[in-house]
Amino acid sequence: MLFLEVMIEILEQNQNEYYRCPECMHVYELKEMARGCEKWCRNHKGCNLEIISESVELGQIKI
Ligand SMILES: [Zn+2]
Repeated sequence: MLFLEVMIEILEQNQNEYYRCPECMHVYELKEMARGCEKWCRNHKGCNLEIISESVELGQIKI
């Protein structure tokens, strides 16, 4: 489990934390979502539309 957590990049913005899937670069408010996305992307070589619909726009959080 630990190595999966390392793969998820944590972004900080206004004291909030966001989590980025390293495979598709979508950003999530919940680590569990980013982890699920990363797992899906890695296994399927593509994104799950239901998962990425939960992602937040990078432009909105201004890294
Ligand atoms: Zn992904």
